[in-house]
Amino acid sequence: MMPEAPRILLLGATGQVGFELWRCLQATGPVLATARQPLPGVRVLDLTDADAVEALLADYRPQIIANAAAWTAVDAAEETPEACWRLNARLPEQLARWGAEHHALLLHYSTDYVFDGRARQPLDEARSTAPLGVYGQSKRAGEVAIQQAGCPSLIFRTAWVYASRGHNFLLTMLRLARERDQLSVVDDQIGSPTWARLIAQVSAQALQQWLAAGADPDDPRLGLWHLTASGQTSWHGFATALLEQAQALGLIERLPDIQPIPSSAFPTPAQRPAWSVLDNRAIQRAFGCHLPDWQHGMQLCLQELAERGPTR
Ligand code: NDP
Repeated sequence: MMPEAPRILLLGATGQVGFELWRCLQATGPVLATARQPLPGVRVLDLTDADAVEALLADYRPQIIANAAAWTAVDAAEETPEACWRLNARLPEQLARWGAEHHALLLHYSTDYVFDGRARQPLDEARSTAPLGVYGQSKRAGEVAIQQAGCPSLIFRTAWVYASRGHNFLLTMLRLARERDQLSVVDDQIGSPTWARLIAQVSAQALQQWLAAGADPDDPRLGLWHLTASGQTSWHGFATALLEQAQALGLIERLPDIQPIPSSAFPTPAQRPAWSVLDNRAIQRAFGCHLPDWQHGMQLCLQELAERGPTR
């Protein structure tokens, strides 16, 4: 049985999801946030240093470990697979083993890139995985390692993540729209753009429900879930919708010409799944949460950028 305000260790507090999670978890318990670089209120921790991770776990003895850190550079992973596997597979394994031994819950994130993109119906949690590249393979290995370690865990597979800070497609499109009259955007990859804040809010809600129900390690709501916004679009569809909205909000002066192109016209070191829409109905039933269409989060995120003004 966990105390009412469990100690939470947050890894990756500077990431898109981690930053949002940092805020959302405050209501659940005291949060020790870690990041690679020194920042106010943050413990510096290089997550490739397994001994340092072990020492922090032993020192802080978290009751909840929220792992928002990952190697997310999908193309660079093909060049440096070892570094990617360290963060995406061996770190979660280490955290899960510690959690199993010390009865701590591990909150962790995975990706739609564990699938090969051949499906044409939303993919549920039971669907077989077949990652196409190093990033997806390493994330799948992380999922399996957590499941095998046997610690209480919540693993949320998400997709196409963006936020009003960090490196993401939405911010890249806004920048390019200010610099160019014409953009070419891939229109043959289909997924569900998901706002980092939605992921963080649902994660915190799920955690709180588990705690309120007695923090039972055998609670059937623990396990792996698909957590994305609802609906689907292509990168071209996302770019068009977000730039139209950005123009309406005054974030860009004029709409560039947005040309649809096939993935073959934009070769990348890593192959991406052509179709990776996740079926998000099960998590909504299990936790009674609502996952709105992708346009909803996009509008809120752009609104936030507009309110933030020219410092963006
Ligand atoms: P980000 O790339 O925004 O953040 C990753 C975080 O990990 C950053 O805080 C980064 O620190 C940290 N990190 C990486 N390497 C180290 C290290 N050696 N030591 C300490 N910290 C490190 O990721 P997202 O928030 O976008 O992703 C969150 C989760 O969602 C991940 O599990 C990811 O796999 C998954 N996901 C993401 C998708 C996306 O589109 N981004 C899609 C599907 C799933 P720093 O700021 O210093 O780099």
